[in-house]
Amino acid sequence: MELTLDLTKKWMENFNQKIDANKAYLSDLDTPIGDGDHGNNMARGMAAVLEAFDSKQPADLTSALKLVAMSLISKVGGAAGPLYGTAFLEMAKLSASNQDLAALVTAALEGIKKRGGANEGDKTMVDVWSVVSQALTAGDLTADKVEEAVQATKDMEAKKGRASYLGERSVGHLDPGSVSSGYLFQALLEVGE
Ligand code: ADP
Ligand code: MG
Repeated sequence: MELTLDLTKKWMENFNQKIDANKAYLSDLDTPIGDGDHGNNMARGMAAVLEAFDSKQPADLTSALKLVAMSLISKVGGAAGPLYGTAFLEMAKLSASNQDLAALVTAALEGIKKRGGANEGDKTMVDVWSVVSQALTAGDLTADKVEEAVQATKDMEAKKGRASYLGERSVGHLDPGSVSSGYLFQALLEVGE
């Protein structure tokens, strides 16, 4: 699948709806293993993304992805803001020469790993981005695969981010950033159909 300007706008609108509808749930997930702000952080960031699309009217894919990145970096705060921001910035950079969704998501994943130092199995959003990158590359991304990747974070012990302070006590809780990343890719699958 190729990412386009039109698809990106629809994708972000749909993601914003999911974040807004689930912001209390995301902050609740962040309470036992974090500081309880993930839903509010993401909701603030996505509201800024939609406002920026409205006021700046990006004319091409690269500008749109850059605008998403900048809005998230400046408004989300916490760990997730710079990490989501880096993901969209890497997609923006590559999108000037390559619009293939698998390549874009893979570049984003590399950016998240480099920026946050997390690997697969560390109970972070990397666990969802990695599964999605592989599935897109293989051409078989489904909603079930995304959901499975999100659920798999429950039994992991956090090695990065705030949840890692809890060590073994982080086991048994879903990772909030993986849940929000799950919404991101469910939103993409819905608009890409
Ligand atoms: P904060 O932890 O600063 O309060 P948020 O609550 O908004 O930020 O986001 C927490 C999420 O960020 C975690 O659930 C996890 O998925 C992700 N995260 C935290 N640290 C890292 C990291 N080093 N690498 C990748 N993802 C991370
Ligand atoms: Mg938090």
